[in-house]
Amino acid sequence: MIARTEAWSAVNSGSFEPAGLARMRELLLDAFAALPGAIEQAPLAPSQRVKPDGTLADIEHGASVRVRVRPGAPIQVALTGHYDTVFPAAHPFQKPWREGATLRGPGVADMKGGLSVMLAAVQAFERTPGEKRVGYEVLLNPDEEVGSLASAPLLADLGKRAHLGMTYEPSMADGALVDARKGSANYSLVVHGKAAHVGRAFSDGRNAVIAAGNAALALNALNGVREGVTFNVGAIDGGSAVNVVPERAVMRFNVRAPDTESAAWAQDEVARIEREAGEREGIRVHLHGGFTRAPKPLNDAQRTMKAWTHEAGAVLGLDLQFRPSGGVCEGNNLFAAGCPNIDTLGPCGGGLHSDEEFALIPSFAERAKLSVLMLAALDRGAFDVKSLRS
Ligand SMILES: [Zn+2]
Repeated sequence: MIARTEAWSAVNSGSFEPAGLARMRELLLDAFAALPGAIEQAPLAPSQRVKPDGTLADIEHGASVRVRVRPGAPIQVALTGHYDTVFPAAHPFQKPWREGATLRGPGVADMKGGLSVMLAAVQAFERTPGEKRVGYEVLLNPDEEVGSLASAPLLADLGKRAHLGMTYEPSMADGALVDARKGSANYSLVVHGKAAHVGRAFSDGRNAVIAAGNAALALNALNGVREGVTFNVGAIDGGSAVNVVPERAVMRFNVRAPDTESAAWAQDEVARIEREAGEREGIRVHLHGGFTRAPKPLNDAQRTMKAWTHEAGAVLGLDLQFRPSGGVCEGNNLFAAGCPNIDTLGPCGGGLHSDEEFALIPSFAERAKLSVLMLAALDRGAFDVKSLRS
């Protein structure tokens, strides 16, 4: 598992690096072909991004890798993960190395290490004796670090079909897993005003940057109004020379909310701010985006998943702990499709999304065993999937 993670870590697969993603995909097609099921590439539609000038651009994402093993079996498990990383090819952090019991490198935790654990776990499960009642579908995506917009339909479709999900984001360095996650929305507010020369016709101008700035302040003022809901203004693009009233601006922001009700409230507030911005004389606005990952609160099905994970951990002598996270992942997508899931079944690690990223080497075997035990318990009926969905 460690050697495989090192080999995968050495291949740059930043979310916007099509050549590297294609190389990584070849390695995955090779490795996951060891499973006793049909392996295929599932092409993804491009996603759209608002450019700094307010127009839309298509982003290509390549393909997901999919393996279906025993699709007719009575119990179906969704096994998901991503093979993109946040590191572009130009980033200095490109190669893995070991420091004692620590493996460092891009993606060693998030989540090439997780994919390696996933593969080892299902291979070990396949070697357990007896006819299997558990079938599964592996889905490996190239766009998680940029919001899973392109793979979202595949995740939703899989989530509807599977009884439960197992996703391989890293556990925390102290071994804790994540139980609840906030939902996340990304927006771009495109503002059109009217250009004018500041000396000759200042009062004819309608300042798009000021309108975007006012909307940004209105958003920021919502922080602290409702528990757990955050509004982050991330960027404002717009304007040119200082002697021109700017006619265009794009304000980008992120919203996080812990549950469905607070997400609905946040959406209403965003719609109000959009409306108020557009009501200013001479200003037109368009809002792009929304909640691409719904909240994943701790409901009854999630409590059962958590209890099962803890029980499997106890067999290994672990007292697994769980903590909520404001971060989002494919577990949010599966949950939104009605698929309860544990989404931090990868190795323990930290420093994610930075050149401090690391994974703890002994945790690879430990977490692979955890997954094998969970699959085996499902297979033998010790964990009853019927109790998950009522
Ligand atoms: Zn990840």
